[in-house]
Amino acid sequence: MKYPMVDLVGQYKKIKPEVDEAMLKIMNEASFIGGPAVKSFQKNFEEYLGVKHVIPCANGTDALQVALMALDLKPGDEVITTSFTFIATAEVIALLQLTPVLVDVEPDTYNIDPLAVEKAVTSKTKAIIPVHLFGQCAKMHELKQIAKKHNLFVIEDTAQAVGADYTCPKSGNTKKAGTIGHIGCTSFFPSKNLGAFGDGGAIFTNDDELAKKMRVVVNHGMTVRYYHDYVGVNSRLDSMQAAVLDIKLKHLDEYAQARLKAGKYYNNAFANNPKITPPYIAEDYTTHVFHQYTMVLNEVDRDGLMKHLADKGIASAVYYPVPLHLQKAYVDPRYKEGDFPVTEQLSKTVMSLPIHTELTEEIQKEITDAVLEFVNK
Ligand SMILES: *Cc1c(COP(=O)(O)O)cnc(C)c1O
Repeated sequence: MKYPMVDLVGQYKKIKPEVDEAMLKIMNEASFIGGPAVKSFQKNFEEYLGVKHVIPCANGTDALQVALMALDLKPGDEVITTSFTFIATAEVIALLQLTPVLVDVEPDTYNIDPLAVEKAVTSKTKAIIPVHLFGQCAKMHELKQIAKKHNLFVIEDTAQAVGADYTCPKSGNTKKAGTIGHIGCTSFFPSKNLGAFGDGGAIFTNDDELAKKMRVVVNHGMTVRYYHDYVGVNSRLDSMQAAVLDIKLKHLDEYAQARLKAGKYYNNAFANNPKITPPYIAEDYTTHVFHQYTMVLNEVDRDGLMKHLADKGIASAVYYPVPLHLQKAYVDPRYKEGDFPVTEQLSKTVMSLPIHTELTEEIQKEITDAVLEFVNK
């Protein structure tokens, strides 16, 4: 593809001398695991996020799993999450023998619908996992109110929205995505907004007790060397990943600006076109860091458009083609087709275009011209 979904090579070239030096240093020291690079990144990330504790781990899926493991839940306890997300969010709930309770999303932001969450709460509900999908925050204020009323934990899946700001409409306070609920979980998968050169993840919390427990859980449940108080996991961020992340963290706001600019360029190009509903930016309470640029196609042959773009060397993708409740591994008598109409409609009509930190207006013009040529024909 001439224009892939992300351009990680272009991004690397701009920080190459600094990254190469940091990598060589780790190789020369052989400080591969738990070296000073991990501590440094942890401290800098805590400062950036304005959060008391960052707990680095091996990937975003582990981050979600460890967060749930820290809550002392029992098999069969219910965790509410969105039907329109990457599978990892529900996977960890199922793996821990908890019950994923899925709910529909809002048609404009594609994020979990607080009204649907409220309706799904039962006496077994213990937690809510909102996902800040594609780069903007879910309605955390409303979700936190529901959580408070029913005594639930809120775990934010901020794998796609690291660096986004959420402003509470009531208090006017602004916080970073992932630091609003009890626990935040993120991923450093290479194509994420803060991407490593391999796998990585982190958990955020302001709660000292939860932090203490999660630090033990990620390290085999070990409190004192070879004394294990909990069944834990082995989930570490390695030094090379931490070193890259520490360098990229300094550029994260700049990266977010570049993505937002690109998102707005697309939005302008598609404004007022009846065939395209561009993504809505809920500016009154969240910034959008455009992990994905995902639009809704109105009566457009999606496969045809994707082929038309591919023929011109332009990548496109569908996030996500199958809602969670219709996934084979998650078939459940509680759910059937038609239960989550917004999610189901989105899965049939959304399409994502390349968005990353290296896009130029010239490239974007080629992309939007190619999209418009097909949808207007
Ligand atoms: C990427 C992603 C994850 C999982 O992260 P990994 O690091 O790949 O395990 C979880 N949730 C969402 C919404 C994601 O986009």
